[in-house]
Amino acid sequence: MVFQILLKSRLIFLLLIWISLCCVSFPSILAQNQESEEARAEAAWTEESSWEPEPIDFEGMSNLSASALRRRLSALIPELQPNARRKLYMQLQDWQPDWFEHWDDKELFPDSTRLDTMPQRLQFVLLEEGEQLIYPWHGEELTYGYGPRNGHMHKGWDTHLEAGDTVVSLMNGVVRYAKFNHSGYGNCVMVRHFNGLETLYGHLDRIDVQQGDVVSAGEALGLGGSTGKSSGPHLHFEVRYGGFALDPALLMDWTDEGPVAKTKVLEMDKSLLSKEKGGESHHAPHVVKSKTHRVRSGETLSSIARKYRSSITKLKKLNRLRNADFIREGQQLRVK
Ligand SMILES: [Zn+2]
Repeated sequence: MVFQILLKSRLIFLLLIWISLCCVSFPSILAQNQESEEARAEAAWTEESSWEPEPIDFEGMSNLSASALRRRLSALIPELQPNARRKLYMQLQDWQPDWFEHWDDKELFPDSTRLDTMPQRLQFVLLEEGEQLIYPWHGEELTYGYGPRNGHMHKGWDTHLEAGDTVVSLMNGVVRYAKFNHSGYGNCVMVRHFNGLETLYGHLDRIDVQQGDVVSAGEALGLGGSTGKSSGPHLHFEVRYGGFALDPALLMDWTDEGPVAKTKVLEMDKSLLSKEKGGESHHAPHVVKSKTHRVRSGETLSSIARKYRSSITKLKKLNRLRNADFIREGQQLRVK
């Protein structure tokens, strides 16, 4: 009897120990579950915050022909983050060394290129499937074209712009030069395109790219301005090959809607290239001079526009006016 009681109490005792153990461990199991859930959420958040686009398929791209690679790049470049573009720049040098011939980030027009060693006929594939031309800055008429001017050669196109307007790349390519140029271009960007041609953007107010940046057509290079030898805000735009200039009109027509490619493959004689590489310092300063008018009593924007053979739209744009009625007597208006 005594033995039975002892046995029972022992069992009860064990039962009590087991229950008390459960009571202690149960909340800690709960807490553990909660902790792991938090950790999972944190991991998911970290994954999300360091999200990157699909890595570049280097394997698939290294064997592509130049034209297939160009087609692939025009879809790919706009999607890439800056660090991926850096990697792409390094890779492109391995895959297509031809694209980086005479690559120089110090000289706009490298000394190593020569006209006499170039073939007589030159060929440039302007547009591959999926590629496009986007005019660096449009919205104003062409102020000056390519050709002789004031006894000098004007080696590009000039278009008027307002300081601070965004200037973009004409075609896909890689920035070869992006800095202040002391020979007259001021803040200047040069982009090497995948067809060997280069485009130059001068007198910029601000440069927003660096040497080695891979850019796509229409991507911002900087803001327009009047730095260097320039007498008013405008974009000086050039097309060059091996440092020698060619008329941008060989590539495209300038229209109000933007550039229209003249051909998919540009074939030209090398005699159409400029004889020497000299740049902006060789021509007279730009004559895009501004002119102001003091508003007199009774004058309207339309009467002023008539007087200067301009238009209301143009005057509003020049003076950043939102409304044509916003002029008053004595106000200084820009008319040119
Ligand atoms: Zn110019």
